[in-house]
Amino acid sequence: MSLVFIVSAPSGSGKSTLVRRLLELDPRLRFSVSYTTRQRRGLEKDGENYHYISRTEFEQRIANNEFLEWAQVFENYYGTHCSCLDHAAQAGADLVLDIDVQGARQLQERIPDAVSIFILAPSREILERRLRARSEDSEQVIQRRLREAAEEIRNFDRYDYILVNREVDDSVKRLQAIVDAERIRTRRVKEQIQPILATFQNALVPVRGE
Ligand code: 5GP
Repeated sequence: MSLVFIVSAPSGSGKSTLVRRLLELDPRLRFSVSYTTRQRRGLEKDGENYHYISRTEFEQRIANNEFLEWAQVFENYYGTHCSCLDHAAQAGADLVLDIDVQGARQLQERIPDAVSIFILAPSREILERRLRARSEDSEQVIQRRLREAAEEIRNFDRYDYILVNREVDDSVKRLQAIVDAERIRTRRVKEQIQPILATFQNALVPVRGE
């Protein structure tokens, strides 16, 4: 069974860059490509960043119970397809999901073993500066994103890990450390270490006097 890593962050926290770098460095990780009704942006590719579909199609898929979780974010629908877990398992990979706090809550209920990570900008001021620097949004949208960030951040304690993103290289290293450590939790490696344990059992000889 694949491990599931949920990554959430307010817009502008640097989450996409960190997730992309993490995936480049770890071939055993696979990105869950969500479905969305929002418009494609810039260099985004259908099937790579998202599966872009209409509202009607999205609502049809909700009715068919096709989503593991879904939510409405910034007036658009976003959802994780149920098949993403099977695809990752077939590839022998662990899954990374870039989803919002509403989706994270739904997934934590459905997959209690999922590992959740919240990425935080070092301060509101820095978040505001980053949102302006990417010059993607109007002033109105920037102000809305800041309000929404304050709202999302209130949910930080629902996550297993909080990563304050001060510097990209350092944050990527810490993300890798979380992934590596989670993979060797005792309950997850119990099966894998059986052959090693067996070599010790076989070597057990009675100690004199026992
Ligand atoms: P953006 O439009 O900037 O790519 O994403 C907006 C927000 O939607 C981000 O917080 C992102 O994490 C979230 N999001 C992307 N895909 C999903 C998804 O499948 N489910 C949920 N719940 N949120 C998603």
